[in-house]
Amino acid sequence: MRQLAVLGGFPLFPQGLAFSRPMLPPLEAVTARLSASYGAGMLTNGPLVRQLEERAAERLGAAHVVAVSSCTAGLMLAVRALAPRGPVLLPSFTFSASAHAVAWNGLTPKFAECRRDTFQLDPEDSAGRLDGAGAILATHVFGAPSPVGAIMALAAERSLPVVFDAAHAMGALHHGRPVGSFGDAEVFSLSPTKLVVAGEGGLVATPHAEVAQAVRIGRDYGNPGDYDTRFVGLNARLSELHAAVALESLALLDEHLARRRRLAARYRLGLAGLAGLRPQTVPDHDSSTYKDFTIAVDSEAYGLGRDQLAYALAAEGVDTRRYFFPPVHRQQAYCDLSLASLPVTDSVAASVVSLPLYGNLEPGQVDRVVELLGELHAQSEAVAAVVGSGTAVVSGAVGASLA
Ligand SMILES: *Cc1c(COP(=O)(O)O)cnc(C)c1O
Repeated sequence: MRQLAVLGGFPLFPQGLAFSRPMLPPLEAVTARLSASYGAGMLTNGPLVRQLEERAAERLGAAHVVAVSSCTAGLMLAVRALAPRGPVLLPSFTFSASAHAVAWNGLTPKFAECRRDTFQLDPEDSAGRLDGAGAILATHVFGAPSPVGAIMALAAERSLPVVFDAAHAMGALHHGRPVGSFGDAEVFSLSPTKLVVAGEGGLVATPHAEVAQAVRIGRDYGNPGDYDTRFVGLNARLSELHAAVALESLALLDEHLARRRRLAARYRLGLAGLAGLRPQTVPDHDSSTYKDFTIAVDSEAYGLGRDQLAYALAAEGVDTRRYFFPPVHRQQAYCDLSLASLPVTDSVAASVVSLPLYGNLEPGQVDRVVELLGELHAQSEAVAAVVGSGTAVVSGAVGASLA
């Protein structure tokens, strides 16, 4: 049997196995696409941005798509456009930017539980926390659609607007219908770890012409064109350079999705026989982008806790992320809010780890990670003795020295 790195052996991936890598279009294709705008001295908010908005609208089945400089800015402007009249209910098990978009609008985030199996916003728990809320914001966690039907039903009972943080979900399907066509706005990210990349960028999809118009004006300082600003806006324009990358990246989306889904299926198959590691549940009627392949670690059944596992994987050169830990309601930025009681979220956030997954990952590399997870389970007692509680971990010395 191979000696585990954490027990003194040679790392399985001496060069390191990256956690995430963008699947980039050829540089020549990007420069060819950019050349007309660039030659005309048009560097931002030009024809390539328009083209990206049109292509994305077709792909997403959305009436309107507005390109912005980031998903965070898009969420800020979308929430603003929908003018919630009270706190915004959202999951704590999400990326911080979901909550930041609420707080930047002077609105209070009202955190609700996620589900243990799907990691998505829990509609039943949400129902009990909706009194006085002005809107719902739900994240399509790790690229799998959130429970759209139940969330829309909750919102409809109270006439609340719904925004989906779709940062992970470009190409996801819910009952065969593309994410991007639900709710009052869905906001995508084009940053490097997401499915379609621009470098930095975002897309706001909405069925409402007024929302699209407010986001268009809002991305341009609040200026509709006459320099008489209608509200306090941002500079959240997308540049032509970013749009050129995004258009070429969008053209690769189907190939990219197919690869990620094949790799995720391979992980699932490999992990099926292993006690204590449970991948995110994705209902049969949904199709995830697998922006992340995230597992919950049951420390009793597996023999190692999440942090111990992440530490032992880092020693082998395998880079992982503890998405989403700490959950947003426990982050320092939100310490002014009275701490919500979210025991399920706390337990999920303490047990999850996301494994390497990207378009160019080799199937053989997935197999080796799966084998490694099996070896760590088999030798969990010895590993636990060496690693201790393993809490200093991933951001700590071992991860850094192997980066
Ligand atoms: C990445 C991400 C964002 C932020 O996207 P940016 O384009 O970097 O602003 C927002 N929400 C979630 C869930 C994300 O993962």
